[in-house]
Amino acid sequence: MKYSFPREMIRSELEDIVGQHFVSVEETDRLVYSTDWSWMPQMWLDRGERLPMPDYIVHPGSAEEISEIMDIANKYHLPVVPWGGGSGTQGGALPMFGGILLDMKRMNKIIEIDEVSLTVTAQAGINGQQLEWALNEKGLTLPHYAASAKCATLGGYLAPRGTGTISTKYGKAEDMVMSMQIVLPTGEIIRTPPVPQHAAGPDWTRLWLGAEGTLGVITEATMRVEYIPESRLLRAVLFDDLSKALEAGRRMMTRRLHPFVIRLYDPASTKTRVKAILGYDFDGAYMVLGFDGDPDIAALEEEKALEMCAELGGRDLGPEPGWKWWNHRYDFYYPPINLKLPWMYGTTETITTYDKIEKLYWAEKKAVEEGFAEWNVRFIGHFSHWFHWGVMLYSRFIIEEPPQDAREALRLHNRIWNTAMQAVLANGGMINEHHGIGLKLGRYMRKQYGDAWPFLLRLKKMIDPNGIMNPGKVGF
Ligand SMILES: Cc1cc2nc3c(=O)[nH]c(=O)nc-3n(C[C@H](O)[C@H](O)[C@H](O)COP(=O)(O)OP(=O)(O)OC[C@H]3O[C@@H](n4cnc5c(N)ncnc54)[C@H](O)[C@@H]3O)c2cc1C
Repeated sequence: MKYSFPREMIRSELEDIVGQHFVSVEETDRLVYSTDWSWMPQMWLDRGERLPMPDYIVHPGSAEEISEIMDIANKYHLPVVPWGGGSGTQGGALPMFGGILLDMKRMNKIIEIDEVSLTVTAQAGINGQQLEWALNEKGLTLPHYAASAKCATLGGYLAPRGTGTISTKYGKAEDMVMSMQIVLPTGEIIRTPPVPQHAAGPDWTRLWLGAEGTLGVITEATMRVEYIPESRLLRAVLFDDLSKALEAGRRMMTRRLHPFVIRLYDPASTKTRVKAILGYDFDGAYMVLGFDGDPDIAALEEEKALEMCAELGGRDLGPEPGWKWWNHRYDFYYPPINLKLPWMYGTTETITTYDKIEKLYWAEKKAVEEGFAEWNVRFIGHFSHWFHWGVMLYSRFIIEEPPQDAREALRLHNRIWNTAMQAVLANGGMINEHHGIGLKLGRYMRKQYGDAWPFLLRLKKMIDPNGIMNPGKVGF
């Protein structure tokens, strides 16, 4: 049998909406869209196994087209999975149950740059780097400096509530949103209020930030942008003691300095990742500090921050090791130095308040290292994305010689994640800070939210009555 009747029927209906060139059912395309950047599916493919593939890859050109695609999906009960750049690391864009994969990259237009209010309105499929280049031409910048900017999209920044390198001063991607256009699973095209701060009822805009495509498709967003800063100062400080370094960061934030970055590597990361990428062989906890804006204010803030570090035993290493980090900040995530197969690894990042963060770090490290000692697991971390009340821990586990059998490797990976997440939850952490929940962490949502979880399930049912949107993700 050459053709399947239902598949050809639905394909032709999709082609009527977007045009023949913008629908693919080719085996090679379907294979490409069967994995994102998560370790699990990549390992699965690496071991010669097959993954679930989408039935149709559709490249929509407008919100109206997506609305019509929703009609088809509801009629035939097909899953719809939004796909931005596919750079997600939690399996959020994996087409677990086949269906329609919406590749958003054709919707890549900049609609307006408002140089008075400092906003940009763009379609959600625009590539992060392309958007940044266009803003830079006008002396502006979107201050969401994700290490994945070259391969991620605006919608992909917002859907999992991403966080970029300079978030400590400028906020998470979600903090930059003014308003969004969204296509609901029922096909309605809605717009959230034009400004984020008001008192016209509850802030329902935020429902779609963190929904990871389970409550609809973000098709357009207006984002707050900034002037490119007049000056930037980078500096590095070395602490013998991680605890004192954490306290220095806490003091800077609670006393309302405005560093655009505080990146604090634990001694294990300092000795391995920092050494491999920047070439410094330090013992202790390496901290990078950055201040920007008006040169006088930035210099004064840097001076105050260095005083706070010195009070706690931090040794000023000067600007050079700070700038070297800044210039190589994304190298940590790309070949040849990134974590990659055949290693097993996972980023179990979390966030909590200052009173709990250190205990959480040690508890997670102990649980992972002692629980999986026979695999020579390494646990490393850095603290980035600092708030007035707490800080994010970017923790990772690494096994250099994992099991070769795909099923055994999958089980071990899940067991380590489970151990890490139990330690996080038992110590007051959130199961994620910026990569999202995706497929990987859905099983912890009930535990994370307790009695609030059934309420979230009811919201999902109300917004997506047929359960078509990105099934199996975010615990839905
Ligand atoms: C090398 C590397 C570095 C990274 N660095 C960072 C970093 O610094 N900060 C950070 O936050 N993350 C980082 N990530 C994780 C990831 O890249 C980001 O979350 C990124 O923003 C995802 O964007 P994307 O367009 O690739 O989304 P995808 O991976 O395509 O999708 C992610 C999720 O969002 C949903 N989605 C995508 N577009 C839409 C839309 N328009 N409407 C509704 N739902 C949608 C998908 O269904 C999926 O659930 C990194 C990843 C890699 C591989």
